[in-house]
Amino acid sequence: MDLVNFKFKKNYGQNFLREQSIVQKIVDNADISDNSLVIEIGPGSGMLTKALVKKAKNVICYEIDKTLKVILDEELKNFDNVTVIYDDFLNRNVADDITEYDYDKIYVVSNLPYYITTPIINKIINEKIDVYKIVVMVQKEVGDRFAAKVGSKEYNSLTVFLNYYFDIRKLFIVSKNCFIPKPNVDSIVVSLTKKTTLLNVDDLDLFFKLVRDSFKFKRKTLRNNLKDYDLSKVEKVLEKYDLDLNVRAENLDIKIFVDISNIL
Ligand code: SAM
Repeated sequence: MDLVNFKFKKNYGQNFLREQSIVQKIVDNADISDNSLVIEIGPGSGMLTKALVKKAKNVICYEIDKTLKVILDEELKNFDNVTVIYDDFLNRNVADDITEYDYDKIYVVSNLPYYITTPIINKIINEKIDVYKIVVMVQKEVGDRFAAKVGSKEYNSLTVFLNYYFDIRKLFIVSKNCFIPKPNVDSIVVSLTKKTTLLNVDDLDLFFKLVRDSFKFKRKTLRNNLKDYDLSKVEKVLEKYDLDLNVRAENLDIKIFVDISNIL
């Protein structure tokens, strides 16, 4: 691939992988099944894409930077199972984009543009795209948050949301030196595999609102963060777990949030 004349755009989070061994490790960990549709956000110069098209039945990519088209056309010219949509992933109706495809499972495999990691993950969840597995490279600190344990300082509302839907694993750390241009932060590849059974939540919107409100002011207790809720009901659930309203959200397991939201 010829990137000599390519002008990397920092504002698009363009740090391209240049280590084939890392690409291979990502694809191996994704363990893509035959009859699959893979979604890649930001194919860049197509290094990961080329490995994905060999494994998946179909690959659909979203690339915001149209100047990459000449490079991607060349890199992918021998494959007829890949489509690149030159548009902002965040503005797409993904459900519409994938209706034409026939597949058993959907995978999202991507070296994400870090500046929009959370919006991308939120979009995948909110649009209720039935993703079987997500294998993505993210900034190391973000990966730590995804997989944070209860009681740790990284544990936040996103951790709870993600753990509601997925089993999350940190796979391996990737050095800054594996990218061109070299980023300022270390990276990590994480996998999120859809849970086979989800916890029983009566009202998902209420559950998500409760979790968000509980973490609103990180240093504050539930008594303070949940002022607008029926605190006697919240207290009743907490008592079951030998806790009281002075507890902070970071100390609550997902199961406790579910119990609280179901009683409200
Ligand atoms: N997959 C390539 C690789 O691993 O070498 C490139 C990864 S680079 C970290 C992120 C890619 O996402 C860039 O190609 C960038 O142009 C693209 N990108 C940034 N924002 C985007 C958006 N909103 N929608 C689609 N692609 C985007």
